[in-house]
Amino acid sequence: MFFRLVTLAALTLSVLATGTRAQVQSSKSKPRVVVVGVNGMELDIIRPLLLKGEMPNLAKVIKNGAYGKLRTVNAPNCPRVYTTMFTSTKPEEHGVTGFLVGGITANTNMLKEEPIWSLLSKHGVSVGMANVPATFPVMPVNGYMISGMLTRGKNCEDGVLCAPKLSEVEGGDAVYPASLKSELLKNVGDFYIDCERMPSAEQLRGHEAEVIDSWLKRVDLIREQQTKLFAYLLKNHPTDFTWMVQSCEDRTGHWLYPIAPYNAGYNPKINSARPDAFPNQYIGFDKVLGTILQNIDANTYVFIVSDHGIKPLREFEETDPHAHMDHEKTTPVIAKHDFADGDDVPGSFFATGPGIKHDMRLMGFEASVYDIAPTILHLYGIPQPEQMRGHVLSQIFEPGNDKVAEK
Ligand SMILES: [Zn+2]
Repeated sequence: MFFRLVTLAALTLSVLATGTRAQVQSSKSKPRVVVVGVNGMELDIIRPLLLKGEMPNLAKVIKNGAYGKLRTVNAPNCPRVYTTMFTSTKPEEHGVTGFLVGGITANTNMLKEEPIWSLLSKHGVSVGMANVPATFPVMPVNGYMISGMLTRGKNCEDGVLCAPKLSEVEGGDAVYPASLKSELLKNVGDFYIDCERMPSAEQLRGHEAEVIDSWLKRVDLIREQQTKLFAYLLKNHPTDFTWMVQSCEDRTGHWLYPIAPYNAGYNPKINSARPDAFPNQYIGFDKVLGTILQNIDANTYVFIVSDHGIKPLREFEETDPHAHMDHEKTTPVIAKHDFADGDDVPGSFFATGPGIKHDMRLMGFEASVYDIAPTILHLYGIPQPEQMRGHVLSQIFEPGNDKVAEK
């Protein structure tokens, strides 16, 4: 909480110094970095799609950049891992240990370590964040912040994910600065801040295909709205640093992962109905990535990161202390990510931009979620704070090109 107050004071000063405009213009001298987060991006599903040419935009990023697995934390779930990425500290240190902390839905008031948006803001880097998990209520930044997954609103209970629209948010602010909210409602329209909750076993019983199809339609709508939001922000509010996140992929994987009769939890009525549903999410994501790439220039650093992957069930809830507790407890899930050993379900990392090696593959666990914040700070020439546990991914930079900010 201490850094939160300090940040607020520092930001108030910087806003006063630069005039009264809360929306700070992107400065020409600083590198532009866009981080695209995909919740639970699973390389097992993505690789076949890449081979079949169904993710052309991601294929381009791989060809012109570095990629590999991203080591995650144990029992990974979105708030736990994203906050680890924001702070480069352990979950026990930053305080956001899961969806629920002490019976309360994880929120930014629980943060005990300084997040990247605060560090960047303090150093004069303009920051834009949209739909990043665990950023509710939003915090003041040198730019804008629109919260993501775990935003509270109408009909939300602690411990259960809900999907409020921007107009339905309750219990805190979802947009900073406040004036941006009406601008978005006017120019982008009302939108879902997070992905739709999954249907329950009761809702599915006897209407499987119908419920699956209407749920997938809602997911398409949410992705459409998000694409419109991202394009609007990149065009109208360009910032030095931008972090945007998609979350429907993870949600779809949990109950529509294409599994076979051999797998635990297989229910032919659900799992043979739409086996393409989960892979199609990544084809959908690739189009969003295409829109993002169209709105930035070739000198922009693009990092695509996922907090963890997702794999078919192989541990049972009854015996596993890290059972799947993170989403609806009534959905018949057939895949999950919060395995006790995080190495069972690594995330993924893709990077491209000036001075980053081309067609470079990171083998094993060369990159971890702890390394994201230090690598971003490095691009801006900001020294890594002592508490951060990760390191700069210097191996992805061409020799002699790793002091990017000094150019
Ligand atoms: Zn999940």
